[in-house]
Amino acid sequence: MGDANYARELGVAVRAVHMACALCQRVQAGLVSHGTGQVKSKDDDSPVTVADWSVQAIVSWILAESFQDQNVSIVAEEDVQTLSKAELADLLASVTKTVNESLAEAPKYGLQSPKKALGASQVLEAISRCNSTGGPTGRHWVLDPVDGTLGFVRGDQYAIALALIEDGKVIMGVLGCPNYPMKNGWLNHHHHHHQYDESMSSSATDTWEKGCVIYAQKGSGKAWMQPLVQQNKMLEWPNSARQIKVSSIDDPGLATFCEPVEKANSNHSFTAGVAHSMGFKNQPLRVHSMVKYAAIARGDAEIFMKFARCGYKEKIWDHAAGVVIVEEAGGVVTDAGGRPLDFSRGTYLEGLDRGIVACCSAKLHEGFIGAVYASWDSSNL
Ligand SMILES: [Mg+2]
Repeated sequence: MGDANYARELGVAVRAVHMACALCQRVQAGLVSHGTGQVKSKDDDSPVTVADWSVQAIVSWILAESFQDQNVSIVAEEDVQTLSKAELADLLASVTKTVNESLAEAPKYGLQSPKKALGASQVLEAISRCNSTGGPTGRHWVLDPVDGTLGFVRGDQYAIALALIEDGKVIMGVLGCPNYPMKNGWLNHHHHHHQYDESMSSSATDTWEKGCVIYAQKGSGKAWMQPLVQQNKMLEWPNSARQIKVSSIDDPGLATFCEPVEKANSNHSFTAGVAHSMGFKNQPLRVHSMVKYAAIARGDAEIFMKFARCGYKEKIWDHAAGVVIVEEAGGVVTDAGGRPLDFSRGTYLEGLDRGIVACCSAKLHEGFIGAVYASWDSSNL
């Protein structure tokens, strides 16, 4: 399988993520108009919504249907424990409804709908089938059904991330970014005063105003971006895709770095110090979710850095798709010690040195590694 052509896998993954984007847009519109009462908390207090479980269910169902000839292994974020609680029967009912509405539209995306609507137990089964823990051998799909649930709930940036790992290497990645329009520079100019209503009330005639799906296959040297599908149109894949590239700026004085919105997810004062010592002048761009990787791949920012608190373990589904996309768009992704991220060791990025950097050029990357080295001793991460 080493030099296999992954056209079929890539096609299914891109189509599934487009479907997931449409599902999320519907759920997000409902959350914004009906309030956030439908948002639940997981055991670690992170928010989860109908969209997280529904996307995981449809992607799991589509992969299982499309690759019946394979033993499909999926590593994904959500489990069914919360959703199976008797007191949350209403929640399971809304997930089941959302899943069936979405799967009924599958032909629009070039995929098959189920012959009969799925029952709640089939939905739970699809979600719980994603219980693989990955590892160094074989094929594993890696899914974050809604990355940046907080951004999603706020009507801000979030992503649907699907990647395929084979023998420990990420071989393709697809990122759905429903609130990240095709237009260049949009994040930079509108990020700080972006309002949900503003983007969603605009006419659906211009899908470039809405979001995009970005994808890349390892070793192709190319990354691609497609607009979301208009309401009464079919997905034309790969016809409407256009190539994206990282920024060509390698002067730190002109460069912009992006980082997580929440201080809890990354040490803002440490990154400010690194950026200062590298000679950055621009304010950081703070963005929810893996849209940060998309911003680097599209050339909307030059560096993404993340330094989680000591003891936090990064999960593979939060990075796999973004890493391959940035690399194929011409960028570099490593840990803060300059080593590639290791996707071969299960659910977590084991052995990660301090933080993660995604960068548009080798020159900026070198500057970053030097700045971290110089700043580390004086910091108290
Ligand atoms: Mg998630």
